[in-house]
Amino acid sequence: MSLVVQKFGGTSVASVELIEHVATLVKDTCSQGHQVIVVVSAMSGETDRLLGLAEKVDEYYNGRELDALLATGEQGSAALLAIALNKQGIQAVSMTGWQVGMLTDQNYNKARIQSIDASKIKKCLEQSKVVVVAGFQGIDENGNITTLGRGGSDTTAVALAAELKCLECRIYTDVDGIYTTDPRIEPKARRLKSITFEEMLEMASLGSKVLQIRSVELAGKYNVPIRVLSTFKEGRGTLISYEENSMEKMRISGVASNRDEAQLTVRGVPDKPGVAANILAPIADANIEIDMIVQNVGSRDGIADFTFTVHRRDYRKAMQVLENTVAELGSGRVIGTDDIVKVSLVGVGMRSHAGIASKMFSALAQADIDIRMISTSEIKISVVIKEELMNKAVQVLHDAFGLDK
Ligand code: ASP
Ligand code: MG
Repeated sequence: MSLVVQKFGGTSVASVELIEHVATLVKDTCSQGHQVIVVVSAMSGETDRLLGLAEKVDEYYNGRELDALLATGEQGSAALLAIALNKQGIQAVSMTGWQVGMLTDQNYNKARIQSIDASKIKKCLEQSKVVVVAGFQGIDENGNITTLGRGGSDTTAVALAAELKCLECRIYTDVDGIYTTDPRIEPKARRLKSITFEEMLEMASLGSKVLQIRSVELAGKYNVPIRVLSTFKEGRGTLISYEENSMEKMRISGVASNRDEAQLTVRGVPDKPGVAANILAPIADANIEIDMIVQNVGSRDGIADFTFTVHRRDYRKAMQVLENTVAELGSGRVIGTDDIVKVSLVGVGMRSHAGIASKMFSALAQADIDIRMISTSEIKISVVIKEELMNKAVQVLHDAFGLDK
């Protein structure tokens, strides 16, 4: 008998009626001859509600008790789903993170899973019970409750699927799969039948918020196929695995866009060893993550420009840090803008096909879209452009690469 994990997100368990609907989906999987482990998120909005309560008591609190509080959200939906399953004649037990032996490190609010002692789950499965696991939570070695960071139930589901060598980890959500691009930007966006782990990581880190990024990393590491499905609509969803569709000639999977960008430039810094380090070290010390970096070739009299991008929420802070750096260096001038976005073409087909970058740039040029920065990796080409051109760029690229077909 094969084992399947079914994970349901907050919008899928947002009401008692929906929980009853989810129970029928689990029941269907059982009747197809699978054993099932279910992982649930808290009911939609519940985690935010609990966070709000904690904030009212102490705005800055983020330690042990916050995790004890947040973990209750998932416990509630797990128990409710077990009740619903029992009512439909399926024997089910709910379990908290600590009951399923989800051992994590001690980083409250963003704990990492260290190991799983699945003996309790196995015992229940042997008794032909469905196990409903409260997602997003674990326990540290001292028995304290921990949580895995926002969206962490995805990671719970993948970790269990890896530990128990499940056939598939099915993640049910309010969209019916992973799309070639954001359908709100390009209505011709198409659901992908399959995508590789690495492509999904690129799409996810670029703003496609269907899955917690960590869960995709974990799935890749342990080779657990993930299938993203809709709770509300029947279909095959999107399979995320190592398989590449070799039948396709030039595989581009999608166009991702990200508004959370800001660009900073230090003009006129001396072009000598150590300059990049001098500029970036204080940024790193201020805990600001850097995305793209460009330094022009120092041409004019040994003077260079240095440009990089950061998350938009860090823009002001980064600006301040740079102003201080420039003052210390005694040369240069800082300029910047948060009026930019990043648009990326993602696909494993780039590895084996030359000419994708030039096709991308000429498509953008024909649409009169000015490129401000470019960066590439093995399976991704990103450009930074003005924010107002974002939707147009996404549509143009979606078209140029025939992603609607
Ligand atoms: N309930 C948690 C959150 O809202 C975890 C999850 O849904 O995966 O982030
Ligand atoms: Mg989620």
